[in-house]
Amino acid sequence: MERYRDYHRRSLADRDAFWREKAALIDWQTPFTATLDYSRPPFARWFVGGRTNLCHNAVDRHLAERGTQDALVYRSTETGQTARYTYRDLHREVNACAAMLRAQGVGKGDRVLIYMPMVPEAVFAMLACARLGAIHSVVFGGFAAASLALRIDDARPKVMVTADAGMRGGKPVPYKHLVDEACRVATHPPAHVIIVDRGLDRDMPRTAGRDLDWASLHARHVGAEVACEWVESSEPSYILYTSGTTGKPKGVQRDTGGHAVALITSMRDIFCVQPGETMFTTSDIGWVVGHSYIVYGPLLNGSTTIMYEGLPIRPDPAIWWQIVEETKAKTMFSSPTAIRVLKKQDPAFMRRHDLSSLRYLFLAGEPLDEPTARWVFDALGVAVVDNYWQTESGWPILAAHPGIEDTPRKFGSPSFPAAGYDVQLLKEGTGEPVATGEKGVVALQPPLPPGCLTTVWGDDARFVRTYFETFPGKLVYSTFDWATRDADGYYFVLGRTDDVINVAGHRLGTREIEEAVQAHPGIAEVAVVGVGDAVKGQVPMAFAVVKDPSRLASAEGVAAVRQEVMDTVDRELGAIARPAMVHFVSLLPKTRSGKLLRRSIQALAEGRDPGDLTTIEDPSALEQIRRALASP
Ligand code: AMP
Repeated sequence: MERYRDYHRRSLADRDAFWREKAALIDWQTPFTATLDYSRPPFARWFVGGRTNLCHNAVDRHLAERGTQDALVYRSTETGQTARYTYRDLHREVNACAAMLRAQGVGKGDRVLIYMPMVPEAVFAMLACARLGAIHSVVFGGFAAASLALRIDDARPKVMVTADAGMRGGKPVPYKHLVDEACRVATHPPAHVIIVDRGLDRDMPRTAGRDLDWASLHARHVGAEVACEWVESSEPSYILYTSGTTGKPKGVQRDTGGHAVALITSMRDIFCVQPGETMFTTSDIGWVVGHSYIVYGPLLNGSTTIMYEGLPIRPDPAIWWQIVEETKAKTMFSSPTAIRVLKKQDPAFMRRHDLSSLRYLFLAGEPLDEPTARWVFDALGVAVVDNYWQTESGWPILAAHPGIEDTPRKFGSPSFPAAGYDVQLLKEGTGEPVATGEKGVVALQPPLPPGCLTTVWGDDARFVRTYFETFPGKLVYSTFDWATRDADGYYFVLGRTDDVINVAGHRLGTREIEEAVQAHPGIAEVAVVGVGDAVKGQVPMAFAVVKDPSRLASAEGVAAVRQEVMDTVDRELGAIARPAMVHFVSLLPKTRSGKLLRRSIQALAEGRDPGDLTTIEDPSALEQIRRALASP
């Protein structure tokens, strides 16, 4: 383990030299004058004074050597479309898109909101923003109009880019309709909406003067050359919203230089992908994994990336492995939930294709249970690498580093800290370090390494308050996750310390879902908790108090209100947040000061002991939860 240990030790003890070396992996138009400015803790500025551009580094600089190499391979099993873009093709498309955006007045520092299905145009739009020095905010297509409107009002985009529709499991999923609805309720809607018309929604409405067609703009601008806007390293490159304990999502802000250096470092040292090799990440561009390892990581590195629209089991459960065979992917990145879905299928599908190119399967986003890890390891015969990180970090916090040293892996553990992360496990409350094997909160001693969030968009105070004020008298970043560390230094992540739940690898705030449920006019009060699920890790479960109990007098009445609540969540937040079950009670368990006892409810829902109940206001409330859970 010496090689890895030296590597990590050096990243902290000899920080400047370490990151200076890594920074040489990207191009700088103007060299930086200092590796780090940490004069205003906890705000860190990496590669101070250096000017660079993400699009130049992800596209232009590869043209001389890799112009004819595939940059982006696209495959949709939903529409049957396939496409390959070499670095030269990508350069042409990104320039065309940058010209389109520039013609709408988009320039340095302007926001562009991208609400798109998995189509190549989404990648072109992201890179075009980077080219112009504009800031993109990609919103996952599963979010409903009301969530989209919240993000529009926070980011205030000048332009939005969308599509008529996506497809899931063969059914069209409207996008443009939701954009129209979001723009209607938002206070600061964009001046223009550019639409990629895939011909999937014949009834798509258009707003004259505001809506523009991608294809006609493209025809006008293709062939244009747009110079890269060189920006100072700390200038924001993107905003990505993520859920927390409050109802309002936070805009995680990423810088430019640190972001590029961290991602290319991770591509080599963690993901073991060299320029010219192929990486296949099965996430969606709306999530951080998609940003980092479908788009920026592979392209900054001069590798080939795969963009896949479709389910892992359609047309059959061999589709991913067929893509691996066709593209000779070396590294795959997916989620434990996806593997659990495949585990339910005939394992013969895993053996149908030649997987000899594949070396690594990285899994992240949620705890990787041992049976799933063992099953996929046995089925594929490649290294299965658990890695732990968050939207905020942008790249792994904990991971094995096969690019540095092939250390043995332990099932259930994402191994060790990545470069620049000073990981500590602290006792809740006091912030004292825990002993070996003891549970503590995963905390990071600032400065956070390159690539991590630099602030919360538009709200420096919230950045400090949310992440750095968990432990009294200590300025440390809290991940809000529990973990233990064994005697060999391996970490084991146990779950969240807060009321955030993880559904199929996606983070959802229970407060956010509660607010969505309460948008139903008949609901007086609600508690939402995450309950263990064999496939998705966790699913939301709601316990609601209705204003008019007579509506629950019959089984049909109960079913009707339940359906209305689920529809309300679909409409307010999106189907990903829909409770798997809605139970009705007349009282919720609370402390005497009125705080919901979510932990106790969750424990009961998972068949565990509800824990310390000395502060409960009315114990009969828990009895009601028990009864609700027992009734079908
Ligand atoms: P997100 O920001 O949506 O990517 O969610 C990040 C959260 O997912 C983390 O704070 C953890 O709670 C959880 N998570 C991510 N990766 C892992 C992992 N490898 N093991 C356990 N939990 C994980």
